Amino acid sequence: MEFRLEQQRKIVTEIPGPKSEALKERRQQYVSASVGSALPVYVEQADGAILRDVDGNQFIDFGSGIGVTTVGNSNPKVVKAIQDAAAASTHLQINTAPYESYIDLCQKLTELTPGEFPKKAVLFNSGAEALENAVKIARKHTGRDAIIVFDHAFHGRTNLTMAMTSKSMPYKDGFGPFAPEVYRAPLSYPYRDGLTGPEAAARTIDMIDKQVGAKNVAAIVIEPLVGEGGFIVPAEGFLPALVEFANENGIVFVADEVQAGMSRTGKWFCSEWEGIVPDLVTSAKGIAGGMPLSAVIGRAEIMDASHAGGIGGTYSGNPVANAAALATIAAYEEDGLQEAALRIEKTVRSILEPLITELDVVGEVRGRGAMLAIELVKGADKTPNPELVKTVVAEAQAQGVLFLTCGTYGNVIRFLPPLVMSDELLADGLGVLVESIRKNA
Ligand SMILES: *Cc1c(COP(=O)(O)O)cnc(C)c1O
Repeated sequence: MEFRLEQQRKIVTEIPGPKSEALKERRQQYVSASVGSALPVYVEQADGAILRDVDGNQFIDFGSGIGVTTVGNSNPKVVKAIQDAAAASTHLQINTAPYESYIDLCQKLTELTPGEFPKKAVLFNSGAEALENAVKIARKHTGRDAIIVFDHAFHGRTNLTMAMTSKSMPYKDGFGPFAPEVYRAPLSYPYRDGLTGPEAAARTIDMIDKQVGAKNVAAIVIEPLVGEGGFIVPAEGFLPALVEFANENGIVFVADEVQAGMSRTGKWFCSEWEGIVPDLVTSAKGIAGGMPLSAVIGRAEIMDASHAGGIGGTYSGNPVANAAALATIAAYEEDGLQEAALRIEKTVRSILEPLITELDVVGEVRGRGAMLAIELVKGADKTPNPELVKTVVAEAQAQGVLFLTCGTYGNVIRFLPPLVMSDELLADGLGVLVESIRKNA
């Protein structure tokens, strides 16, 4: 792969540097204080796995803009597709004057999602919008109201998806009242609940049966690998048991693959790891190389439940974003990126897993493919250690490595590298992390 920017970290000023400091002042005057930022510097350009700030400092990007630039930032194939599409039309509107790229992308997505049955798709702009529409579609199809979501879930920041999201601070605090008929069920979190998949599923199904009633449930919505909530992989058997329960009770099973989908875990969709077949899949983040695009994909008879005009949006399926998505999918297919995700997992595990026995602050290393995390605790009682996470992430930033955090208790460091990150860069960034954890343990 060829890159514009040297794929190396480089610190040439204090962090933040003088130009970033100046931008911070202007930001404080003009940008709403409601917007937060992880890095204290301002990025001028990004390429592959590198972010370069306005002072010339370079950071290794272990976040990919929250799992978005999975094909690498400014991937040349995606850039070319965007340039060509924009030269042909910057905006087309499916509800007024339809166009081919909308069909191309929907067809491609129906081919990539699990399940051998007729499928259809519909396009939107953001992950939350896809979730909102998956719920609309499931309700229209079933004629039922109740939506089941889970502990540690994150589904977005709009009103309905706030109700579906678990964590109050920062996502919900003071922003209510929230949408009704959303019920929270227990998740499988093997590191903390010690239950097998079937045991955890039995607990969840009992809750649904007793507190909601299966016949009232329109949809079960779950992240097959829980993202913001802590990169939690449910115990084996949990997801298949829920799918079976949904199928038996006429409930639409929605896999929220906004973060875990589109090659991130080494397969097109994370659902494939346990061989589950969702009725509907929501996709966004890694779908279009950075362009705002999302989709709901699923069984044709469910996707067709709504009257024409019931689902849509002004910008939904923008032709430039569609072209970016088709090029992104081509890059996943042609450039060995799913294999790269598996190689990244091997490297990360080989570096981090030895720490579990070495240091009692390292609780667990988990995830799939290039969606991995380390959970930090205070010791054998597994008390969350968000303070250590903060220290380690800040020390890494000062040395030119950007790590994102997650977890209901803020004690998880997550790794979402672009799949084009080289092994050297991966090892270099993780070396900084390991040194800092050891020093502060
Ligand atoms: C990020 C995310 C969303 C929300 O996506 P937005 O584009 O921020 O609206 C929904 N579900 C999951 C699993 C996510 O990770």
